[in-house]
Amino acid sequence: MPNLQPFHTFHIAAQARKIIQVQTLEQLQQAWQAAQAENLPTLILGQGSNVLFLEDFNGVVIVNRLQGITHREDEDFHYLHVNAGENWHHLVQWSLTQNIRGLENLALIPGCAGSAPIQNIGAYGVEFKDLCEYVEVLDQHRIETFRLTARQCEFGYRESIFKHRYRHGYVITAVGLKLTKNWQPILKYGSLVDFNAQTVTAKQVFDEVCRIRQSKLPNPDEWGNAGSFFKNPIVSVQQFNELKKHAEHHALEIPHYPQSDGSVKLAAGWLIDRCNLKGYRIGAAAVHEKQALVLINKGNATGAEVVALARHIRQTVAAEFGVYLQSEVRFIGQNGEVNGEQVIS
Ligand SMILES: Cc1cc2nc3c(=O)[nH]c(=O)nc-3n(C[C@H](O)[C@H](O)[C@H](O)COP(=O)(O)OP(=O)(O)OC[C@H]3O[C@@H](n4cnc5c(N)ncnc54)[C@H](O)[C@@H]3O)c2cc1C
Repeated sequence: MPNLQPFHTFHIAAQARKIIQVQTLEQLQQAWQAAQAENLPTLILGQGSNVLFLEDFNGVVIVNRLQGITHREDEDFHYLHVNAGENWHHLVQWSLTQNIRGLENLALIPGCAGSAPIQNIGAYGVEFKDLCEYVEVLDQHRIETFRLTARQCEFGYRESIFKHRYRHGYVITAVGLKLTKNWQPILKYGSLVDFNAQTVTAKQVFDEVCRIRQSKLPNPDEWGNAGSFFKNPIVSVQQFNELKKHAEHHALEIPHYPQSDGSVKLAAGWLIDRCNLKGYRIGAAAVHEKQALVLINKGNATGAEVVALARHIRQTVAAEFGVYLQSEVRFIGQNGEVNGEQVIS
């Protein structure tokens, strides 16, 4: 059975019945139809940077390598049509060489362009939805492609329609980005706030984002990981006020981000860190020393070890703060995706 280890960034040992890399829509459709004919489950992968294999996958993994970028512009905007298998970070780099600005805050996010809409990738104050014009989707049963506008994608925090209505039997084949020529830097987070908004260039923002990320996030080639393992939890104002009181009692200030609907987003990494879990280890799965939100594979971790660690973190944080963390990473079982919350409950 072919080895999945090089095809996902957690680098957990797992196998699939078949792994097929596709460069064209025809190859994509053929691979899917052949699997259907054999009654085998299929899994589409980009770069495997948001998945955890719990065991061997008893089906066909289709690795999306649809390449190509088309650029057009008018007086006010640049328009990019990007095929789904393009590497996201290379796209960001390339756009800057073309003097197209707006993607720089999303530098160094691993993965493919076609995966970006699925969890509406975000970093340093920018989300994919802010730049998205449309997403092109292949309906594998009808063999037809259609476009959804950004609004139709129902983007939210690490959310979109691709985790729900268009989860099974649909593949994202391309994304359309619309980037204004009237560029304004987004300098809301971390050391970006120190830049002068009047003089800073997009390349400087890009370089700084890369510097910060490289200083605190583990390189998956060194320590297998899938980035933030948990989502930042969103709680009601009442729950936040109780947590705040509890934190003040211990002379702590709880990092929080008020949301437009009145709820409050908390920093999952901070909650985990307050439970003294940095460096905590089960087997070869560990909480990263520099960033508590990232779980790493110290060498030969199994999916079960990562799950045991995630469960322990969830229980410890819930006991301390009454907040139940949810996984951001997608869990893949032998027949396809399984419910992450159930797995770590
Ligand atoms: C070190 C590190 C840092 C990270 N930092 C961030 C960050 O700052 N912000 C952020 O938002 N994310 C971050 N992530 C998570 C990850 O980069 C994103 O979720 C990325 O978009 C995943 O892309 P991928 O191609 O690797 O997707 P995969 O892991 O290959 O796939 C993810 C899911 O999407 C499905 N899928 C993949 N391609 C398609 C397609 N074409 N059509 C339909 N379904 C598909 C898969 O079946 C799977 O369920 C980070 C990950 C790592 C390892």
